[in-house]
Amino acid sequence: MSECLFCKIANREIPLELLYEDDFVVAFKDVNPQAPIHFLVVPKQHIPNLLELSISGELLQAVNGAIRELATETGIYQTGLRLVINAVEHGGQTVLHLHFHVLGGRLLDWPPG
Ligand code: 5GP
Ligand code: ZN
Repeated sequence: MSECLFCKIANREIPLELLYEDDFVVAFKDVNPQAPIHFLVVPKQHIPNLLELSISGELLQAVNGAIRELATETGIYQTGLRLVINAVEHGGQTVLHLHFHVLGGRLLDWPPG
């Protein structure tokens, strides 16, 4: 998708420091962090939202691998984190390319707003 922001980031058309990359995903810091640690794990494939994801063991394994590695690097492996997927309008999705928010570094409230 030539006009998709996260495709452009994943394809390196927009210069941005990647925290993690493998064959299936990239990860980078959220530009508007909602917690001391807030990064996004983004499939390289253009999947518009969670509802259009057909289950792929390889992709989920890659997402899990990215989260575990970056949680260790950022020091939140022990203290914990929250994984958030906003999907479509009422879910608050603003970038229409599936992505996984990883938040940590403080005690997070529940329920979300
Ligand atoms: P959503 O609202 O779709 O769940 O999440 C999109 C996220 O992408 C937001 O948290 C927003 O701050 C982040 N974001 C939007 N544009 C950019 C960008 O150009 N660079 C980075 N690093 N994050 C972005
Ligand atoms: Zn895309």
